[in-house]
Amino acid sequence: MKKVVLLRTKPYSVLCYEALFRWLLPHLRENKILQDEFASYRAGYRGERNADYILSTYPHKNAYIFQGIRLKVGPFHFQIDTLLVTPKFILILEIKNLKGELEYNPKTQQLIQIDGDQKKGQKNPILQAETQKRHLTLWLQQSGFPPMPIETVGVSTNPSSILSYKDETTMPIKFVQLESLPTILDQLYESYAKGIFDSTTIRKLNKKLLRDNTPHKPDLMNQFNIKDHHLIKGIACNECEIFPIQYKNRKWKCPKCGWEDPKAHEQKILDYFLLYEPTITNRACRELLQIKSPKVARRLLYSMNLEHSGRNYSRKYHSPPLEKFPQDSFVSIGKRSIFND
Ligand SMILES: [Zn+2]
Repeated sequence: MKKVVLLRTKPYSVLCYEALFRWLLPHLRENKILQDEFASYRAGYRGERNADYILSTYPHKNAYIFQGIRLKVGPFHFQIDTLLVTPKFILILEIKNLKGELEYNPKTQQLIQIDGDQKKGQKNPILQAETQKRHLTLWLQQSGFPPMPIETVGVSTNPSSILSYKDETTMPIKFVQLESLPTILDQLYESYAKGIFDSTTIRKLNKKLLRDNTPHKPDLMNQFNIKDHHLIKGIACNECEIFPIQYKNRKWKCPKCGWEDPKAHEQKILDYFLLYEPTITNRACRELLQIKSPKVARRLLYSMNLEHSGRNYSRKYHSPPLEKFPQDSFVSIGKRSIFND
């Protein structure tokens, strides 16, 4: 029996880049740094989903799966791509979705990615997982749990990547292709004779993990020093990209090509939460959508069933939680996107 306690949703990193690429003026979307960052977060998310799938097909016994979790020890946060809690051990998976040849050198503890004629160092998944293990050990201690055995495995999820080891004899293999993960799990389950943790401890642990999970939302506007004049004002037409389109007769309509959508404001308001702040006022909403009427803004905000606080002019409408953001959105990364994916 297994249970996914924390289900993976599109992370803030991907959602925020999607919002940014919807908002940037078209020529600014061709910025290579932004495109590479966005592509790398998206590839990471895709790899994690692949690992979720393989884990979901494994016949675990009493395993609880956290598909991505971020916890705090002292002033620091640490993030675990996938965490497995079983009565025998805890498992940390560090997931890498990199293309090309991945060469691991146990002596220098370096992971080298060779992609075509490009060669570059990547974060070492084995060391990353070991660091998370230390943080998790501390977190367990601080949270009053008994010491628990923690295992770590680095997983390469890109089916076309080739893993190679500089020296195969030195250490147990801790960085494997995704297809090997079930075999690794077999070995782990077999290597522990019996369960150590009773169901009460596990239940408490699961509850505490879930409660302490704090997803990280990046601040892309500050990080890249993006100003209002870099961005589209109002809502852009989905077809011909002119902006702002107008709201009339309860729908958004493009004055140029006639494209219309009654709900075009919803994505725009969600994007505001992702790029600016987690609340919006009626006034900010009018500025955002380029409309004049407070009454219309109020109706549009109400239609989204957002939580709100305060009264009248100071009323604030709140962002939905991470898991409520639309999961099926897709934004192409500039013009070259079809060659990346
Ligand atoms: Zn149009």
